[in-house]
Formats: sequence, structure tokens, C-alpha cells
Amino acid sequence: MAPHFPRWRVGTPCLLIATDHGPVLVDTGMGLHDYMAPGPMVRAFSAWLNVIRDPELTAVRQLARLGYPPEAVQHVILTHLHFDHAGGLPDFPHARIHVHQREYTALQRPRWGMALAYDPLDFAHGPRWTLYEHPDATWFGFDAIRLPFAPEMYLIPLFGHTRGHCGVAVCDGAGWLFQCGDALPVNAEFNLTPQWLNRLAIGPHVRRLRVFAEAHPEVHILAGHMRTSFFKNGPDSKQNGG
Ligand SMILES: [Zn+2]
Repeated sequence: MAPHFPRWRVGTPCLLIATDHGPVLVDTGMGLHDYMAPGPMVRAFSAWLNVIRDPELTAVRQLARLGYPPEAVQHVILTHLHFDHAGGLPDFPHARIHVHQREYTALQRPRWGMALAYDPLDFAHGPRWTLYEHPDATWFGFDAIRLPFAPEMYLIPLFGHTRGHCGVAVCDGAGWLFQCGDALPVNAEFNLTPQWLNRLAIGPHVRRLRVFAEAHPEVHILAGHMRTSFFKNGPDSKQNGG
């Protein structure tokens, strides 16, 4: 699934995972309200990025076309709470939201910088939260927090882009998918952005993730924003049975 930022020719992948708790969404992208009645912050971002204001791009509309009504999604896992990842939460009011405790705290007490991209409208419906704090496992050497779903999946703390930003690792049967979210530059192109920009906006993990990717070509690595060509040619919402 891919709400698009055409100026950058990128979309935001939203993974739909078939689990023992029904379909689980990893990130929602922007939601109906972002296209139909955006708040001032989203309006400004949308103008800057020349976002196509097409409600059909939202996860909820794309899922409907696949035959899933909104109430079918009872669980949403979020890498972080920025509007372009969490904007669809109001479209899934029945869902429990799984996120790192530090990210929830960052939302409650936002500071300057990247906290500007939290949109209160995404949480105004009062979602139910399940918060995670302490790693209880390791995954390929990363501290990891086991999520309560089968297939096996983990929150991987990758703090930096936001105070509680996490990757999400999902066992897809044949191997692993690692959604690194905004801890990586667009399209997981490790050398796309200079170090100073990584430090400022992306976080401190790019180098480690590049080393990891080189050592583990079998792990399918995604970034929070992928080039539009990825959605046409690469795995899309059908990944993991979704
Ligand atoms: Zn972000």
C-alpha cells in the first residue's frame, strides 16, 4: 500500500500481515482525514511535498478493495507516530495500537524538531494502546521486543529519528522482512543521504544497518519511504498473505 509523495517519487509502505489475530497492519500511512480535512501541519507538509490528495490511496480504502472492512484490522503496529505513518489510525477505530513506550511519551510531551510531525488529529479518537519498553529477546544481534503475534515478529528499537522509533521484523515463512522505517533513507539506499543529515533527521543507525544488510542479504530490508518503482515492481500489499 502506498500513499504517495510525488515530489520525491516515494510512497509509504503499509504492510498487511496475516496473523493468528487476524490481519495486522504495520504503519497506516496517511488517513482519510489527511486528504479530506487536513490539519494545518499536514496541509503545510502536503503542499511542500505536492501530495496527491486522493482518498483512494489510503490504507483503509485499499483494504476495502481487497475485501477487508476497517473492523477486520484489530491491531496496528507503528514504527513511530509521525503523521505520514500514523495518519490512518482514525480509519481503524477498533484497532489496538502497538508502539514503543518512549514513542508514546514523546507524543505526550513533544519537543522541537521531529516532534513537529506529530498530528494530534491522528489520536483524537482515543485509540487503545499496547506499549512496549524493555527488550526481551535478540534478533540477529539487535535488542528486540517480541510482539504477541504469530508469525514471529519483533519491535527493534532504532531510536533517533524520533525518541521511540522502532523497526519491525516479521518472519514471513521463507525468511525475514525488516521494516526499518525512517531509521533509513528513502528506499533503504544507505548512501543516499550525507552523515550530517542522517544525524539530524534519520538517526544513528544507518551505518549499522548497512553492515547488517551486507551480512544478511537474505533479510528483506524496507525503509519507511520507498520509491514508486518499488510498488510497481517489488513486493506490495500481497506480501505475507495480505
Ligand atoms: Zn517519520
